[in-house]
Amino acid sequence: MNAELAVQKLLESVKEEAARNNYSKVTAVHVKLGSWETVSTQALVKTFDRMKDSHLLSQASLVIDKRKTLAKCRYCGNLFEVIYLKSRCKLCGSNYMEFVGDRGISLEWIDGVE
Ligand SMILES: [Zn+2]
Repeated sequence: MNAELAVQKLLESVKEEAARNNYSKVTAVHVKLGSWETVSTQALVKTFDRMKDSHLLSQASLVIDKRKTLAKCRYCGNLFEVIYLKSRCKLCGSNYMEFVGDRGISLEWIDGVE
């Protein structure tokens, strides 16, 4: 994912959200980052700080909730967090699993003042 493109889209949603809430200033932007995204949270924050060049967003900080990578055991259906690649199902010990995760960056909510 291209960080600039993602932030640009995000800023558009934030502006719409701010207008809906009658915010004159946005103080925090909370987003969810899919577990399969390769872009780092630091890169996103840097890009966000560089691109938020408006009065509305001058004091806004980006708060990122990076989702965990999950896997589902194909034997017993147990859902567990993958910490390293050779993780096994904690219930049955199987390593036959499918990864569960999402991509993209999505806006959760914004904090602001009227
Ligand atoms: Zn299992």
